Amino acid sequence: MKILDGKKLAEEIKKELKVEVLELKKNGIVPGLAVVMVGDDEASKIYVENKKRACEEIGINSEVYELEEKTEEEKLLKLIGKLNKDETVSGILVQLPLPKQIDKEKIILAIDPKKDVDCFHPENIGKIFLGLGQEKFFPCTPAGILEILKRSEIEIIGKDSVIVGRSNIVGKPLALMMINAGATVTVCNSKTKNLKEKCLGADILISAVGHAGLITADMIKQGAVVVDVGMNRNKEGKLVGDVDFLQVSKIASAITPVPGGVGLMTVAMLLCNTLRATKLANK
Ligand code: NAP
Repeated sequence: MKILDGKKLAEEIKKELKVEVLELKKNGIVPGLAVVMVGDDEASKIYVENKKRACEEIGINSEVYELEEKTEEEKLLKLIGKLNKDETVSGILVQLPLPKQIDKEKIILAIDPKKDVDCFHPENIGKIFLGLGQEKFFPCTPAGILEILKRSEIEIIGKDSVIVGRSNIVGKPLALMMINAGATVTVCNSKTKNLKEKCLGADILISAVGHAGLITADMIKQGAVVVDVGMNRNKEGKLVGDVDFLQVSKIASAITPVPGGVGLMTVAMLLCNTLRATKLANK
């Protein structure tokens, strides 16, 4: 059984990106990422800090805009408008969740699609739907998963893939990208009947639910590849995925750990998208 080491792969990618950043800087081009956070959500603060640190590691300029919880939607839209026009900003990321007085959809639509490094804008998601996303952005978590599979030389073409979870951030775009990559895809949700039987059909099983222990060993086909996107706190406060790692790893041929799997690759893909945005702006 192979552990799909997201930490190692993310380091490998960052090393490659660092070289690209240096190359751009030689031509007077400095990539810049603007991260906007509204409110004091503790988890968001950690994610934003991780993203900032990753940018610094590879030489991307990053600016964090911290707005208070009661910020009006108009003020956030104004800031996005300003960042859209700022030539030193290659990518814009608005950390979710947003406070309830702000309409998330309006904010996503306000970001210039050329700077949409989260790949949430309908224009960018639409390109993935049509299989035209190659030269633009890919949603970070799904892209991280495909990159893990690719770099681990796991074949996708012709494989049966079951994705548990259908969110706009993970499950749905991941399904599109797996279809584009040549898999036969089944997408499950909270109402799915016979989840166990569906999972047992998977050559590649990907769980993105947010429910510790949901995926147990009896749901896994011998030799399947298992990717765990879930991030949950167990009773002891430890970070765990959706998959019963200990038992499932006895049956799977390859598995991502939590932590040390998909999470770190998500950040690496954000850096990739920021570089892509920089190159697009400086074509
Ligand atoms: P979400 O928006 O809450 O979506 C969860 C999905 O799981 C929904 O589609 C839901 O179905 C489905 N679901 C819930 N219970 C289920 C069950 N018993 N059986 C089958 N499906 C079930 O969550 P998300 O934003 O996609 O995130 C999912 C998990 O991934 C979370 O733990 C999150 O923290 C983690 N995550 C990790 C990363 C990373 O970088 N590692 C990035 C993003 C998210 P319905 O649609 O029917 O409600």
